[in-house]
Amino acid sequence: MERKRIVKKIPVAILGATGAVGQRLVSLLFSHPWFEPVALCASGRSEGRPYAEAARWLLPSPMPAAASGMTVRGCAPLPGIALAFSALDSSVAGGVEEAWAGDGALVVSNARNHRMRDDVPLVVPEINPSHLALARLQAWPRGGAIVTNPNCSTIGLALALKPLHDRFGVSSAQVVTLQAASGAGYPGVPSLDLLDNAVPFIEGEEEKLETEPLKLLGTLRDEGRPRVDFAGIRLGAACHRVAVSDGHLAAVSIKLARPAGHGEILSAWSGFSGESAGLGLPSAVESPVRYRDEEDRPQPRLDRDAGGGMAVSAGRLRPCPIMDWKFELLSHNTVRGAAGGTVLLAELCVAKGYVRGAEALGTAATRELEPALA
Ligand code: NAP
Repeated sequence: MERKRIVKKIPVAILGATGAVGQRLVSLLFSHPWFEPVALCASGRSEGRPYAEAARWLLPSPMPAAASGMTVRGCAPLPGIALAFSALDSSVAGGVEEAWAGDGALVVSNARNHRMRDDVPLVVPEINPSHLALARLQAWPRGGAIVTNPNCSTIGLALALKPLHDRFGVSSAQVVTLQAASGAGYPGVPSLDLLDNAVPFIEGEEEKLETEPLKLLGTLRDEGRPRVDFAGIRLGAACHRVAVSDGHLAAVSIKLARPAGHGEILSAWSGFSGESAGLGLPSAVESPVRYRDEEDRPQPRLDRDAGGGMAVSAGRLRPCPIMDWKFELLSHNTVRGAAGGTVLLAELCVAKGYVRGAEALGTAATRELEPALA
């Protein structure tokens, strides 16, 4: 795609900027071609302190210089900011996100609080961008809205299932996850609980994995009042926390409605670019589902950064004696599964004209702003 001059960046707030996901957002957004963070918000513990002091920086890349000296604010809505990224703890995300939406902002959230509401879009841009229409049902007086990104394990699973469901129909899927420590935020699970160990329980996780993919893979019906008919897939999940820093691995077994050969499944994945391809979204990657041929891949340490952390890696596709096929799946939980996923979703919202004041950029955004990965 032809590179164009950057016209104007969109000022954004990061809610929960000091946490594990918030730091990823800081890292991604301070170098983003469309967005400019102007407010870093967190709890009263951090409010009033320089970001460099309030955030215990966990990433291998350095803290962006422009962020380090910014004073952390509380989470009350700020005038003039039409787009807020939420990486808030779910104990507070619900009310804070509603306050920002009530003040007219589009809130793009990582938190679970609003995901399954009938009037809240739960969207992965490659899978179901049309579901953004649900935001029309939200009646915030100043035109704000809440849109959500799924749970970190759900995103990888839904991306891998989407091309198979479209071509062959997935009738059931069983998933067993091995989830990274960073999925529990910082400081997360105490080290003595996790070292030399695996914990076969993550609160609420199995329920999310068994429901969120059904909304994502559901069909939008829009006869005046948009609604999503959930996909009719039987899903079962068993989730485990393991001593890996980043990257959720999953063992998946699937039953298909129509028979598919090994090559047909690989070709469904390799040919998948998603429904948002072609919009010039800076964080979109070519081939969001990538297959590894090696017999012992994907692995968290080796494969989590595929596509800058935005691609999901599949491997070991083989017949399943109980279902039809089984395979391994890996996704970066704080990039594709959280911060990177919400940045891509916010880009979609801009491109589709959902960000107030950015309508001028709006659908023109993809023409007028510089695509990072062109
Ligand atoms: P985290 O490391 O615990 O960070 C939580 C953030 O929320 C911090 O910035 C914290 O600010 C802020 N916060 C906590 N209590 C607050 C309050 N009373 N008022 C205002 N701010 C408050 O958690 P995380 O892992 O980044 O997760 C953030 C959200 O993303 C959660 O909803 C989580 O479920 C979701 N998520 C996480 C992942 C992942 O892989 N980690 C993946 C997908 C979704 P202080 O630093 O000031 O306390």
